[in-house]
Amino acid sequence: MILKTLTFDNRFTRDLPADPITENTRRQVHKACYSYVEPTKVSSPTLLAFSEEAAKLLDLSEQDCDSEAFLKTFSGNQLLDGMEPYAMCYGGHQFGNWAGQLGDGRAINLGEVVNQQGDYWAIQLKGAGPTPYSRTADGLAVLRSSIREFVCSEAMYHLGVPTTRALSLINTGEQVMRDVLYDGNPANEPGTVVCRLSPSFVRFGSFQIFASRNEHDELKQLLDVTIEHHFSKLLDDHVAGSKELYLAWLDEVCQRTASMIVEWMRVGFVHGVMNTDNMSILGLTIDYGPYGWLDDFNPDWTPNTTDSQNKRYRYSEQANIALWNCYQLANSIYPLIKETEPLEAVLNTFQQSYHRQWLCMMASKLGLVEVLEGDQSLFERLEKLLAQVETDMTIFYRCLANDDLSPSNFNEAYYQDKHGDDYRSAMQQWLDDYQIRRDQDKRNSADRITAMNSVNPLYVFRNYLEQQSIDKAEAGDYSMVKQLLTTLRNPYQQQEGCEQFAEKRPEWARSKVGCSMLSCSS
Ligand code: AMP
Ligand code: MG
Repeated sequence: MILKTLTFDNRFTRDLPADPITENTRRQVHKACYSYVEPTKVSSPTLLAFSEEAAKLLDLSEQDCDSEAFLKTFSGNQLLDGMEPYAMCYGGHQFGNWAGQLGDGRAINLGEVVNQQGDYWAIQLKGAGPTPYSRTADGLAVLRSSIREFVCSEAMYHLGVPTTRALSLINTGEQVMRDVLYDGNPANEPGTVVCRLSPSFVRFGSFQIFASRNEHDELKQLLDVTIEHHFSKLLDDHVAGSKELYLAWLDEVCQRTASMIVEWMRVGFVHGVMNTDNMSILGLTIDYGPYGWLDDFNPDWTPNTTDSQNKRYRYSEQANIALWNCYQLANSIYPLIKETEPLEAVLNTFQQSYHRQWLCMMASKLGLVEVLEGDQSLFERLEKLLAQVETDMTIFYRCLANDDLSPSNFNEAYYQDKHGDDYRSAMQQWLDDYQIRRDQDKRNSADRITAMNSVNPLYVFRNYLEQQSIDKAEAGDYSMVKQLLTTLRNPYQQQEGCEQFAEKRPEWARSKVGCSMLSCSS
């Protein structure tokens, strides 16, 4: 079997404490990073899609992915030599409240593959059956949420946003009961399993759970091993086990988190559930649940219906929430530092660093070579204008690359035809100021356009497109999922025949479930 060539080196399970109980019963798990548990076998798996690029990370060819062995392995029906399946223990703050133990309730890790380049990739099946962490739920996933996770992970990768990856999307042949709207009308949906890849699936909540239980030996062990496996560069400058090392590590995690949020802001991504259990320690976008993409630029928008009241996780709050989450991570390592001041000093750099990176990102969206005095106000004025009348964010920034900045060149970005005089004159003023600022750079127009079109995507996984592709897939037609997957591999490049994927949200989708709002029911 070709897949036998996958080489496993399970560092996480080898170096960290296991739950001694191996029975698959739901429970509180103490003093352990994970519990051994096997995927539940499924009746008739079929491969719906795989990602060529993700497969390459494991040195798998297209042929490998089309094989029976692949299907058996990534549906959870067969374990390969070297696999030691387990579910991870973690806790988390959900919507600002400590929720205690959460853990991998429907994700089962198969092990860590070392590829030919020596890179480690932890592989994880999402929707592969119950684990000790499943609490009251079933451990399964359905087609619609799996398509969303699978396509979006790979779309984010191609956009250049740090993210976990998705290798495969497999229909299990089982039916799974879900109440999408939480309105007492459950229905059967097709069960699916997505295989995710990441160098590590450790979350902020993995540290929080030990701190909350005063399990300081395990907390230290997890931190030391995380640094050794994923942040070993820090050991060049800091002594193993020292406070300085732990502070440098926290700083690195904060920086990576800030950079990730800046990338979300660049492409108009709203995660929707930035709970601390959904924050990767590597600064990767993880757990694609009720996320969404801004169509019209509305900074107050959140896709998550569970969050519609407080809008805690709205677009414009993402940096503040990320910082709040970093505070919780800092709190969780406090027992190893025992001083608040140096922790606060690290956290205090987050905002400045985020702001600096945000300015550079905005400059790049506007095609400016560097950030000059006055640019910040230019950026802020633009965002105000974009929010003032319904303006499609993605289309607007593509139009902005034009040499000719006449207002009529932006018509396709608007959701309404007519705008008030106030708006029109403010926009004209802004465009005039932008033209002057742009000319200051003395960058030739072709270079500027190329640069702008390489940071302002033409195609994103728009909420309504994704919903249309899901509707079709649920009726047995996967063609749109496949077309989108292909198009989103080159999100910055105009592609023939893909015009419909670059269009603004149609009116029918404005307030339709799935297109403008989503529940956590996945
Ligand atoms: P989320 O915020 O969606 O990432 O999930 C929060 C917690 O609920 C995590 O511990 C998940 O593992 C768990 N969870 C979500 N859906 C299920 C499910 N269908 N079965 C078991 N656990 C689940
Ligand atoms: Mg989660």
